[in-house]
Amino acid sequence: MIDLAVIGGGPAGLTAGLYATRGGIKNVVLFEKGLPGGAIASSSEIENYPGVEEVKSGMEFMEPWNRQCFRFGLTHQMDEILKVRKENEKFVLKTYDKEIEAKNVIVCTGSTPKKAGFKGEDKFYGKGVSNCATCDGFFYKDKEVAVVGGGDTALEEALYLSNIASKVYLLHRRNEFRAAPSTIEKVKNNNKIELILNIHIEEIFGDETGVNGIKYKDKNDNISTLSVPGVFIFVGMNINHDILKQDDGSFICEINKKGEVVVDLKMRTTLKGLYACGDIREDASRQVVCAAGDGATAAIEIINSLH
Ligand code: NAP
Repeated sequence: MIDLAVIGGGPAGLTAGLYATRGGIKNVVLFEKGLPGGAIASSSEIENYPGVEEVKSGMEFMEPWNRQCFRFGLTHQMDEILKVRKENEKFVLKTYDKEIEAKNVIVCTGSTPKKAGFKGEDKFYGKGVSNCATCDGFFYKDKEVAVVGGGDTALEEALYLSNIASKVYLLHRRNEFRAAPSTIEKVKNNNKIELILNIHIEEIFGDETGVNGIKYKDKNDNISTLSVPGVFIFVGMNINHDILKQDDGSFICEINKKGEVVVDLKMRTTLKGLYACGDIREDASRQVVCAAGDGATAAIEIINSLH
């Protein structure tokens, strides 16, 4: 039986694994179906992690984490965990082809980009519609693109795309943004970004080759069209809590109305031995530094509980 299973290899999971192994827990396995790094690895820029002065891409930023966090015996198992259940005093982690037992579990499965629900969004996903500027931005070198959303992600990615595209149209449904003031300032001062505010997206349209443009309605119901080959959508995140759902539809531990896992200050969920860290937990600040802090907190709590 595994002493500690960490599910999810982003900043929270990697840090939990580092602290747990360095703190003396012997058999700690990080379950991550892809390469560890988490969603932040596809972020275009990180400039707010204290102690890392240089502005880095998500990929560059996470690279040393992958070396450092495995230094004390953490192992990586490339399995996708589909479900976690509790049987007597142990946890059982279900994959596609096996079941794995663990004494303690830290869930760090984070969040994934939400769909906006626009007509054409699904049809053209991967054919001009994207949720990742670092992955797909280069396809639009010296072309015009549209970005949809008004939070930190949309504004940061619009800034990133302005370095590649000839022009970025930033479309938002209100006339106020919910991003950090410094980011809003940068966007407003960027002459390659044109703000289109107070609008309602009607449709992303195209043909068999991909996206041709986006149609939107202003507050007077006037319809306008932008001819762009790329539309980047950043309208928030969904909480990845499905592995905690049981066969009868209930959750293994308490989940709040927003779908976040309820935890205390030690990252303990309402089920003994189960911890939740990073974007999946209640009131997460959705910052790398906070996710890492959660991972350390949970690991320290587990170490203390063994004494
Ligand atoms: P967010 O803050 O929830 O913003 C989502 C944006 O999308 C909002 O402006 C919202 O409009 C808009 N939106 C939502 N549904 C929509 C729809 N169906 N159609 C059109 N627009 C829609 O999401 P986020 O930007 O992904 O950020 C998530 C969290 O991560 C936030 O807490 C953010 O601060 C944090 N974050 C921080 C950093 C950083 O510190 N560097 C970077 C990225 C993210 P309304 O404003 O009208 O609701």
